[in-house]
Amino acid sequence: MRSICVFCGSSPGNRPEYVGLARDAGRLIAERQLTLIYGGGKVGLMGALADAALAAGGRVIGIIPQMLLEREVAHRGLTDLRIVSTLSERKFMMGVLSDAFLSLPGGIGTLDELFEAWSWAQLGLHKKPSGLLNFQGYYDHLVQFLDLTLSEGFQRPEHRAALQVGTEVGPLLDQLIAASQSTAPK
Ligand code: AMP
Repeated sequence: MRSICVFCGSSPGNRPEYVGLARDAGRLIAERQLTLIYGGGKVGLMGALADAALAAGGRVIGIIPQMLLEREVAHRGLTDLRIVSTLSERKFMMGVLSDAFLSLPGGIGTLDELFEAWSWAQLGLHKKPSGLLNFQGYYDHLVQFLDLTLSEGFQRPEHRAALQVGTEVGPLLDQLIAASQSTAPK
């Protein structure tokens, strides 16, 4: 696995622990020699993530739509910043450039991105693993709901298993690396 796409909040959250988590994620990704692919913004958890990966010597590629250049304050210190036309084009390019997806805490933009990447796998459009970081219980309710989609017969166990849920960034990254190796074309 060479690259990982991280989805996370364009807000910092109400507790400093969230920014600390984003910084840890950026550093741990760089330490694993993975290229970080993300939304290209300098604000919120997104900015903290990218700054930490760069500070640890990592490669960071940001992909931002023209309409968000000012709102999300495009990060001008990245290895590469790609400006695209639409949100859909951003998600598509993030998917093409990445070998796995990791979602940290965030709002509805993060949820949209998580579900789109995961549902592409369900449809067989790619075999890249997705991870959800359930940091300090932030996603407890979502994980419970996802179990309901299984028990009520709206999702198959093998598709549910394609989303790995973890509580710590390092071990979850290592699970995604292992999953990516087991599905990579031989
Ligand atoms: P949020 O989690 O809402 O702070 O958003 C995280 C990222 O998702 C930001 O870069 C947003 O620009 C992006 N985003 C927000 N809404 C959407 C959407 N409908 N589709 C794709 N990305 C979005």
